[in-house]
Amino acid sequence: MPISPFPVPNATTSFWRAGGHPLDSHRSTVDVPPEVDIAVIGAGYAGVACVYHILDLCRTKGLPVARIVILEAREVCSGATGRNGGHLKPDPYYRPSTLAQSHGVQVAAEFASFEVANLYALKKVIETEGIDCDFVYTRAVDALMTTPICDRIKTGVELLKKHGVKVMDDVYFAKGAEAEQLSGVKGAKGCFSYTAGHLWPYKLVIGLLEKTLAAGVNLQTNTPVTHVTKDLDAAGFLTLTTPRGTVRAKKIVYATNGYTSSILPEFAAKIVPVRGICSHIRPGKSPAPLLPHSYIVRWSESEYEYLIPRLDGSIVVGGARSKYYSDLDTWYDNVEDDKLIESAKHHFDGYMQRVFKGWENTGAYTDKVWTGIMGYSTDSTPHVGRVPGRPNQFMLAGFTGHGMPQIFLSAKGVAAMVVDGADFKSTGIPRLYEATEERLNSTKNNILDGWRACQNAAVKGQT
Ligand SMILES: Cc1cc2nc3c(=O)[nH]c(=O)nc-3n(C[C@H](O)[C@H](O)[C@H](O)COP(=O)(O)OP(=O)(O)OC[C@H]3O[C@@H](n4cnc5c(N)ncnc54)[C@H](O)[C@@H]3O)c2cc1C
Repeated sequence: MPISPFPVPNATTSFWRAGGHPLDSHRSTVDVPPEVDIAVIGAGYAGVACVYHILDLCRTKGLPVARIVILEAREVCSGATGRNGGHLKPDPYYRPSTLAQSHGVQVAAEFASFEVANLYALKKVIETEGIDCDFVYTRAVDALMTTPICDRIKTGVELLKKHGVKVMDDVYFAKGAEAEQLSGVKGAKGCFSYTAGHLWPYKLVIGLLEKTLAAGVNLQTNTPVTHVTKDLDAAGFLTLTTPRGTVRAKKIVYATNGYTSSILPEFAAKIVPVRGICSHIRPGKSPAPLLPHSYIVRWSESEYEYLIPRLDGSIVVGGARSKYYSDLDTWYDNVEDDKLIESAKHHFDGYMQRVFKGWENTGAYTDKVWTGIMGYSTDSTPHVGRVPGRPNQFMLAGFTGHGMPQIFLSAKGVAAMVVDGADFKSTGIPRLYEATEERLNSTKNNILDGWRACQNAAVKGQT
């Protein structure tokens, strides 16, 4: 498997990034700083949240503020975070029910409760820091569109409930006509609802970034890191190479998600860039029918859409996998967020009219479509903590298209490791997230296994 290319120029413009921000292409100094305590690579949610927590920890412990640089290949938050669906949706049961069977209920409960804890921790910081990012609490409604998918998920949910997994107390199940009524999705066979949130991800990152810059952090946008030394030199420094010069750093944090293997080649077959597509839809009439929740519409194991209503009556919908999933090259190991996915770009036209009750005559139309690059981990779990075999190097990457309810507290844990030398176990991050040598040596590839299984099922369905 080849290493990932670097982020490409001229990315499609997402709804979230369309207005821009004065910090988008900011450089705190004309040149990159020659020497720092900590270099953070990547100015997405993971990188900026980690810097926010490092500063917070330094303040709380009365430590001198570390000299920190953030090196970003393109503009601030121009990766997955600035092009996602804005859905902050902890998963109480979908992955956890599979994990309960493969790793036991305790591991599953750890996963689920960590994601819920992220939601509340982030909401608290948004409020205490006064970050204007349109945060809204919702009930996420998962509309399940076939009986087999409904039955499979229900079985997993019952397993978690039977074992008293606490976060399941918040999950409500409806079926048949009640499912259609609760979700508003035509033909839903069942639906689960639970507490979630949605927000404007670019504004969240900018809000956190402003706090860090005010505390003296150096931001260098349009500065890709092209190489990092593996070991410390005699003076205890690592060297980062960029086209604008080198930076010596005592510690490095990789927050490079889908692009991680471009500079950590050992992750080439572990974190794969996966392309996704998303849209912004506007109702043609005002007022638009009320969408009281946020949604997942699951058509099959591999095909789904995610959707959030915005307070201005517009909607952000992503997914469209039914249009391109079978064509592996359009999405797997693909960093082309400068292009739309041709076969999927019209999927969102008429989507609300087709899928939601009461939207038939709204004239809803697609206002914007964009692509983004996710970092899919081949064992479906993020890699967080110390980079195996690389002293003083840390990472948080591979969020597998689901980083919004995982990153904030992962970043807090990594900050504790960087500042305090904290042990991974003490951070409260789910144990399976830990970046380990064993995971690096695994040949598992859940992404391709899942894809092959779907292709085989499709072939069988046709015969
Ligand atoms: C279309 C789409 C929809 C999504 N919808 C949702 C959703 O609704 N809910 C959800 O939970 N998740 C969603 N996700 C996933 C979510 O956006 C990610 O999990 C999350 O944003 C990852 O954050 P990050 O900071 O790790 O990565 P990114 O935001 O990708 O940030 C990584 C940054 O590192 C920079 N970088 C990479 N390599 C280098 C280098 N060598 N030198 C310097 N800089 C570098 C990149 O330019 C980038 O800015 C979606 C993703 C996409 C693409």
